[in-house]
Amino acid sequence: MVSPARPVAHLTARGGARWIAGHPWIFRSDVRLPPGIATGDIALVHDVEGRLLGQACVSLASQITLRRLTLDERPVDKAFFRARIADAAALRQALFPGEASYRVIHGDADGLPGLVVDRYGDWLSVQFLTPAMDRRRELLVGLLVEQFNCKGIMNRSDASVRTLEGLPIEKGVIHGDVPDPVVMREGRLEIALSLEHGQKTGGFLDQRENHLMAGRYAHGRALDCFSYVGGFALQMARKATQVTAVDSSAQACERISANAERNGLGNVAVACENVFEFLRAAVDAGERYDIIVLDPPAFARNKASLAAGLRGYKELNLRAMQLLSPGGYLVTASCSHHVGEQAFEDMLRAAAADAGRDAQVLERRGAGRDHPVLLALSETRYLKCHVLRMVQP
Ligand code: SAH
Repeated sequence: MVSPARPVAHLTARGGARWIAGHPWIFRSDVRLPPGIATGDIALVHDVEGRLLGQACVSLASQITLRRLTLDERPVDKAFFRARIADAAALRQALFPGEASYRVIHGDADGLPGLVVDRYGDWLSVQFLTPAMDRRRELLVGLLVEQFNCKGIMNRSDASVRTLEGLPIEKGVIHGDVPDPVVMREGRLEIALSLEHGQKTGGFLDQRENHLMAGRYAHGRALDCFSYVGGFALQMARKATQVTAVDSSAQACERISANAERNGLGNVAVACENVFEFLRAAVDAGERYDIIVLDPPAFARNKASLAAGLRGYKELNLRAMQLLSPGGYLVTASCSHHVGEQAFEDMLRAAAADAGRDAQVLERRGAGRDHPVLLALSETRYLKCHVLRMVQP
């Protein structure tokens, strides 16, 4: 049944064509909104001829005014959200049987635009990133508790994108109790991290499958740059003779040491330093490594910082290539949305040329499968993670 209260958003011809082509986002200039519509409403979406196209979440502050929820007019009620959450959870259970730490809801890609839910064992860390999700947080929290039977939920709605949506920055426990740190399992390891004070939702679950992958390549002397709580370093420590983890944050470095100890890994050295300086000094000292991981923060946060960002990435990769022994592996990532895969690979090629080396591309990876990308929304693919093997032409 269609509720008479549901507002109707009319797409322009261009907006309608975009919707029909499958794009789940409609921009401000491609839609006409009725008077009285409020941010966070769920609107029926009509084309220029008044035909129903589906339903979408409304955001008045954002350039992305509509985000697709359905292609029909089924009620968007508690049962609707329960089913979407259950479907997202079922995918993760099928992908990672027996595991309990992964992203369970990845926004648009799980049909819940603006809702991000990361599961760390018995605890969840949640971001409400659009007004529609923010307004329904009580309902959503209830459904998450019902689905996951979790002991506590941390609200990490302190991501800066909230300001673009006209939402305040917020953080705090919104259900049960959340210990600090929480302990999650990653493969055979236990990793402790803080859902309240950690970066993003506490950890970088998008790199979880890549941590395990790097562990498979690790041997000899390993170096993990931008280590955070040691995700890459500790998986590599299970196989390598010696691992050095570098991070400039004292808090992160304490966590890496504690996590190494927690897992009985006595071969992890921690350097609380700027990676650029660490690498420069290592090159000057003639150091050699058999595997190096580079997982820097986003250097190019917008188009204007793209050139400078690429210079930063190139310097890191050039130094790492200089430090790798022949046949050594480089696991190199960029989470800058603005650096596309082609630009990333061009940067790597230029770095290799400057280093007088070449490399075999063994893997071109991205975020883990718990961070799916919608085919129609491929611009949300942000993480690149290549595995190279250095060769000496
Ligand atoms: N590799 C981690 C995530 C890295 S997040 C994982 O897989 O879990 C980026 C990290 O880089 C943060 O911990 C931050 O403290 C650190 N960082 C940022 N700039 C740095 C710099 N110039 N030198 C060293 N560490 C830096």
